[in-house]
Amino acid sequence: MHLQEIAKKRFGRKIAQCTNEEIYFSLLEMTKEMAKKKESNKGKRKLYYISAEFLIGRLLSNNLINLGVYDEVRELLEKNGKNLNEIEEIEPEPSLGNGGLGRLAACFLDSIASLGLNGDGVGLNYHYGLFKQVFEKNLQHETPNPWMEKESWLHKTDVSYEIPFGGFTLKSRLYDIDVIGYENRTTKLHLFDVETVDESLVGNGIDFDKTNIAKNLTLFLYPDDSDDNGRILRVYQQYFMVSNAARLILDEAIERGSNLHDLHEYAAIQINDTHPSMVIPELIRLLQQHGILMDEAIDIVSRTCAYTNHTILAEALEKWPMHFLEQAVPQLLPIIFELNNRVVQKYSDRSVAIIDEEKRVHMAHMDIHYGYSVNGVAYLHTEILKNSELNNFYKIYPEKFNNKTNGITFRRWLLHSNHELAALIEELIGPDFKKDAAELEKLGKFVDDETVLKRLLEIKTAKKKELKEFLSKSQNITLDDNSIFDIQIKRLHEYKRQQMNALYVIHKYFEIKAGKKPSHPITVIFGAKAAPAYVIAKDIIHLILCLQEVIGKDPEVAPYLKVVMVENYNVTLAEKLIPAADIHEQISLASKEASGTSNMKFMLNGAVAIGTMDGANVEMHQFVGDDNIYIFGESSEDVIAHYEKADYVSREYYEKDKDIKRAIDFIVSDTMTAVGCKENLKRLHDELLNKDWFMTLPDFKDYTEAKERIYADYEDRMAWAKKMLVNISKAGFFSSDRTIAQYNNEIWKLS
Ligand SMILES: *Cc1c(COP(=O)(O)O)cnc(C)c1O
Repeated sequence: MHLQEIAKKRFGRKIAQCTNEEIYFSLLEMTKEMAKKKESNKGKRKLYYISAEFLIGRLLSNNLINLGVYDEVRELLEKNGKNLNEIEEIEPEPSLGNGGLGRLAACFLDSIASLGLNGDGVGLNYHYGLFKQVFEKNLQHETPNPWMEKESWLHKTDVSYEIPFGGFTLKSRLYDIDVIGYENRTTKLHLFDVETVDESLVGNGIDFDKTNIAKNLTLFLYPDDSDDNGRILRVYQQYFMVSNAARLILDEAIERGSNLHDLHEYAAIQINDTHPSMVIPELIRLLQQHGILMDEAIDIVSRTCAYTNHTILAEALEKWPMHFLEQAVPQLLPIIFELNNRVVQKYSDRSVAIIDEEKRVHMAHMDIHYGYSVNGVAYLHTEILKNSELNNFYKIYPEKFNNKTNGITFRRWLLHSNHELAALIEELIGPDFKKDAAELEKLGKFVDDETVLKRLLEIKTAKKKELKEFLSKSQNITLDDNSIFDIQIKRLHEYKRQQMNALYVIHKYFEIKAGKKPSHPITVIFGAKAAPAYVIAKDIIHLILCLQEVIGKDPEVAPYLKVVMVENYNVTLAEKLIPAADIHEQISLASKEASGTSNMKFMLNGAVAIGTMDGANVEMHQFVGDDNIYIFGESSEDVIAHYEKADYVSREYYEKDKDIKRAIDFIVSDTMTAVGCKENLKRLHDELLNKDWFMTLPDFKDYTEAKERIYADYEDRMAWAKKMLVNISKAGFFSSDRTIAQYNNEIWKLS
């Protein structure tokens, strides 16, 4: 390691005389050099993980950890009067993803490199990524989030392609980011960009001319798709991504000796949700250009591509109107017609066609017919795909369906975000858990060891104090570290039911006013961005921010209950919030959350879940047992039956349950409209009363009872610490190393 020399060469000063910024750039250079030495591309079959999102978070610390030099760097800086934590704060976070799906892709890249597998990620280099969230007058506003600096983790490469669209072509440029495996090799995240993109196109907030494709293509991650211009821009983005990916894949395969007839021996392509689905017709088109006939081209591609489904929410299963494709990518239409004809000729069931009667192209259907694997992302999710959502496909191709329960990288979500806990674990069971997460089971033998349990509680307290300090400095938020930290952080969506948590807060507010004071003060913490065009989601944010103000100003309630909504929730904030959590909320409507991954991060950090039998909560419950997770709410079978029968009427719950009525009516009370916007609050009130599509009210009573139980159980500190320990010891299954090993053994079979 030669940080000293780099600093000297770049800035002409010793480390002790450098600013934090100068040290950051020196570390960046050092890390990139060290990563380069670990590059290697061995093996024949190579994986390409194509994804519209890679929510990678900051990279400096993780890279130092994975290179095995973190402690050494920290000590060297300390000796020179510098603090690595402060230097970390200089790095901007690239927001190249929305939430779980993009973060999963980032965890997968870490595990692929850490297991030494032959595989790269492919995506887009969005200049602003997702928007930055700011609160004003208790409302969400969106602003651009620039993250690329003159010098960053991006390497500009020589790779460039001409990408044809209807009526014009665009020249691409590939930028690479090193993915440094934990004590292993370096692989790549390939991000394609357009040379003509123009940041000055952005006007007010995140508004821009959506029709100027040459200038706007890679400005933002999935801009607002509430109008046709926004929606068609997504088609341009997606085609640009997969056309570049397909050329890169073919070029690399040829270079490594493929004659393209044997492409599947050289490449495996994982299609992450339907965003990259056009890679299937695009590869067929390119293979034809190489002189391969249609029948064979289809066969080759079908042995190469595999599809991951991430959701059963209808609005997320992309269906593009034919005229969008006709305008943006006319060259693909003949191929998509041919793919559809083959399906229609073979199967009389119209529901499995690629093109429906309204001339919409169903991207998932193309993936299932012309890919060799279809996987869900948690046990329950895959069962629902097989038995209801995709049952008609399952009947045709039972052998294609498989489950790969999601995971998270323990390097970021334990070693980096919670050094203290990682050190305690190492002291108790040795260092092997860092490479083999199943080792965490060994912690089980300490469940009755009071000294260990006390140290767990001490670490939790220390992390709560750290969070308090951080939020006080960065967001001017005051926390009481003696209170219970009850945290819900995830994208704002009605199915995730932040509104149910908010209704509970109102309920508790009334209970406290009636004299029922909790034994421990409670801090309910939220973090969430809402999609800019998702009106009700923004209204729910408004509700939470108004509650924060109303309760904060109420001297009767404030000592016992506090609501906090952190601004601009992102990976960096998640890394600080999760280690400080006592309780985490995983309260989606059963059947709607495919897996969830924040549940895994919290579990690993010794927080206890309150949750529904949904997504990976089902497996967590199975591992930790009834005593260590608080399960409530209707089962997924019952929920699915309600939708089938269309028999849910929210108003009935409102009329027969006094607590529900009181909480819902408070939303439009004078107290609330004094700090909020009447129109927004009224709209949300009416939505809950007349629609409530994600069935908040039927689960409300069960939820409040589970909350009272979990808060009461928190009082017995030793019993609680035992729950924490059980959760940590059972978290090993949720390592993305396990997930990726399964993808490789059962789908990719990389050589
Ligand atoms: C892990 C993570 C998510 C996913 O959270 P869920 O609760 O599983 O939806 C979203 N955003 C960020 C920043 C994350 O780190």
